[in-house]
Amino acid sequence: MKTVRTALPLLCLVTFACLGAESGSVPLRGKLSMQAGQSPTIVRNGESIKLEGDEPTLKVLNDERLGGADLEVMGRFISKDRFAVDHTHTKPVFTYRDGKRLQVTYWCDVCYIRTYSPGKCWCCQKNVDLDPIEPEA
Ligand SMILES: [Zn+2]
Repeated sequence: MKTVRTALPLLCLVTFACLGAESGSVPLRGKLSMQAGQSPTIVRNGESIKLEGDEPTLKVLNDERLGGADLEVMGRFISKDRFAVDHTHTKPVFTYRDGKRLQVTYWCDVCYIRTYSPGKCWCCQKNVDLDPIEPEA
């Protein structure tokens, strides 16, 4: 029976990894603050927490249209004042408007294409519009 007992935890680990390895994510909510040449930060209770993430996520967090927004990111603390945001494919960035939690997305109204990172539409090259939506159930 020894093999079964050792194999089970391993199986769990593999399953979590397949789900995106983001199972230990926690939300961090605060005011998004950005300064040129520096990592974006979330200011919560007077404390600045530096945000790290993959390139598409950092593009969102450096989007000046979101400056000062009531933002929530999913991820984990690396240290007391550093927070690693989950990978962009897990759609980890939210904003609050009128008390509603909305997913930060971008929309090309020419091609009707939704993306999760700002910049040019891959189809028509138009700059996509910031378009927070209610998350899918
Ligand atoms: Zn387009």
